[in-house]
Parts: sequence; C-alpha cells; structure tokens
Amino acid sequence: MIAEIICVGTELLMGQIVNTNAQFMAEKLAPLGVDLYRQQVVGDNPQRLTEAVLTALDRSDVVLFSGGLGPTEDDLTKETVAAALGLELVLYPEEWDRIVERFKGFGRKPAPNNKKQAMFPATCCTILPNPRGTAPGCLMEKDGKAAILMPGPPRELRPMFTDYVMPYLEQRSGHRLYTHMLRIFGKGESDVEYELKDLIDGQTNPTLATYCETGEVKLRITAQAKTDAEGEALLSPIVAEVERRFGDVVYSENDEELAAVCHRLLIEQKATLSCAESCTGGLLSSAFIDLGGSSAYFVEGDVTYANEAKMGSLGVKAETLEKYTAVSRECAQEMAAGMRRKAGTDYALATTGYAGPDGEQVGLVYVSLASRDGVEVKELHLTGERSRIRRLAVLHALDLLRRKLCAK
Ligand code: ATP
Ligand code: MG
Repeated sequence: MIAEIICVGTELLMGQIVNTNAQFMAEKLAPLGVDLYRQQVVGDNPQRLTEAVLTALDRSDVVLFSGGLGPTEDDLTKETVAAALGLELVLYPEEWDRIVERFKGFGRKPAPNNKKQAMFPATCCTILPNPRGTAPGCLMEKDGKAAILMPGPPRELRPMFTDYVMPYLEQRSGHRLYTHMLRIFGKGESDVEYELKDLIDGQTNPTLATYCETGEVKLRITAQAKTDAEGEALLSPIVAEVERRFGDVVYSENDEELAAVCHRLLIEQKATLSCAESCTGGLLSSAFIDLGGSSAYFVEGDVTYANEAKMGSLGVKAETLEKYTAVSRECAQEMAAGMRRKAGTDYALATTGYAGPDGEQVGLVYVSLASRDGVEVKELHLTGERSRIRRLAVLHALDLLRRKLCAK
C-alpha cells in the first residue's frame, strides 16, 4: 500500500510554522505496513492544491491531508479533495448540531461560515470525530483510493490519527510490522553498525537499522508478522543477540529515554535524588522534573555556578578549588557528596565542566554520583557546541545513575 502526505497551509510553506504533523504521521506508517513515498507542502491556493490532489490520488493508494478544515475562506482542503474525487458536499445535520452544541458550551453561537465544517460528501465518506476542535476530519474512499483529511492543529490531528486513522490503515494493509527500538548509550553509531554488520546485512525479516541522536544510538529491529506472538518470536532472538554482544550499553528495548529509565528505577526502588549542577545549569534536574511523578523521589536541585556557591551551598573546600580548580575530579566529588549530605537523599548527582565556546579545555567535564557506597566520578572529553556539551554531560550523569540503579 502506497501512501503520501500533503500538508496544506501558506504559513507552513513559508516556514512560519514547523511541519510537525508530517513528522508525527510519517514515522507511524512503516509499522503499519504502509509505504510512504512522498511528502509535500502546498499553500492555501486552490489551483495548486487541486493539481497536488489529482497527482497524489493518481499514484498513491492513500493520501493523508493535514490542515485547511477551518471555517474561513482560505480553508479549502475538503472542497478541493471532494471536487477532485467528483463528490459533492452536503450538510450533515447531526454534525451541524454537534457544532452548535460545542459553541453553546463556550456560551457562543457559531458563525454562518462554520456551516462549512458540517459539510461532507453525501456518499463515500466516513466522518472522523474531533473531540478537541470544531472541524471533524473525514475519510473519502472512491475507486480503491482513500483521502484522509485531518485538521491542522497538532492537538487535534494527533488523537484523530492515532484513534481512527491508524486502525483503518492497519486493517487495510492486512499485515503489520512489529518493532523493538533499542537505545544504546556509550557506543558510537559506526561501532554499532560494524559490530552488527552480519545481522544488518544478513537479515531480511527482521531488519535492523541504526539512527543517531545526540550522544546516543537507536537501533530499530522490525519484523513482519501476522500476529503478536509471531512478531515477538522473530524479534526476541535478535534482541537477545544484540544484548549479548553489547551488554549494558543497551539501556532500553522499547525506546525509553535515559531519564525515563532512571525515573522508573528510582520509583521502583523507593530511592531519593538530588542534583548539584554547574555547567549543566539545571538541565539535569529538569530532565527528571519533566517527567510526571518525579516528586516521588526528586528532593532538591542546586545550580552552583560560582565557586562561592559551590563552597556555600555544597561545602566544597576552598583548598580543593585552589589546588584543583572547579573543573576537577576532586571538586565533582565534593559537590556530589555535599549535595547528598545537605539534601539527605539516597543519591546525588553533580556536574562541573567547561562547556565553551572559549577556553583551552572546552569539553572537559566531570560527572559524579554520591551514594551510600561513596562517590563515583567520571571524567569526560566531550566535543561540539556549548549546547551539545551540556546535553551530553546530562546524559553521562543519567547513565552513571542508571548503571548504579541497575546494579542494585
Ligand atoms: P483551524 O480550524 O484552526 O483553521 P485547520 O484545519 O484549517 O484548522 P490550518 O488553518 O491549516 O488548519 O492550521 C491551523 C493551525 O494548526 C496552524 O496555525 C498551525 O499552528 C497548526 N498547523 C497546521 N498545519 C500544521 C502542521 N503540518 N504541523 C504543525 N502544525 C500545524
Ligand atoms: Mg485554518
């Protein structure tokens, strides 16, 4: 089954907004057994949209549309697609009633042009409900082709895609892909590829593919199968083989982020955490606090940037700073130990380093972890821009904690 995506909107075309809808939908198609061949963006222009619709419906089985379902003149996706399929729009009274009700809920009345949003083809059409907005989506099917229309706002499109479009595509494609997304920290992409070369080259079902992210590698292992059990039976030996070769650098089998893994383990082990940060300036604490439920373990996060703060808040010794400087193994150690003592937590993480851009030792970073077993410090030599160095420092700190928690 061949699909393409058309996102409609002049704002999108001119780069005033980022096309997150296309990205959201595109990455979900392969696991549904749908081959995505093209994506395009078209402005709010009826001629160019008509041309795009006709070409797309000619060469693809399914065309996914985002945007242009609003009430205004420039919202013309539905009209254009219906015309291209030779379908006439009629008012669906029950949809109109629903819109009137929705406006009533806000203490308002719909404008006459909202009627447009209750107009759909009389035949060949399935309405896709939109509980988060006024404009329902719809599925138009004719001569074996399907056009699927969804509203532009991501908070409306995403649930519509997940709840209605994905089940439709899965049923229509008749086969499914099962996936495990392994996450790897502590090994570069080329090493991962090299060490798995026999599996990557030799396998057709499942297939393996690597993706690089800041400091991490993702390995997608995908099997084609008819049932969950068959999919899992194909995947699990390969997952086990990768883990046998790589050991504990594989930190997730199901695309869980490092912070999320630590979060889960801290909760499971009923342990508490605090963070003392210099070069990461709050990013590390934020990685935890971004996750709902972190109050179960997160006690305190201090940004101790100046030497005075490291001494005053954490009890780092003046002699240590004088003798070794703030970016040193010794300082990182005292920061974590001081934080743990002050906050009274089971674990304390600390970071200190040169994030750049100026200076001779840019990229030298220490991350440390204090626990009841003492303090572990890791010296890092990171490369890249300031933001990348700070992000990598956070990941290394998280990994230090993850390894400790896994060893329990
Ligand atoms: P509305 O009823 O809000 O007008 P619509 O279905 O007509 O919805 P558009 O007018 O095309 O959709 O877009 C509305 C808003 O949705 C845009 O201003 C933008 O914020 C967001 N949006 C539209 N398309 C995309 C996209 N492809 N990716 C991310 N956001 C988008
Ligand atoms: Mg609009």
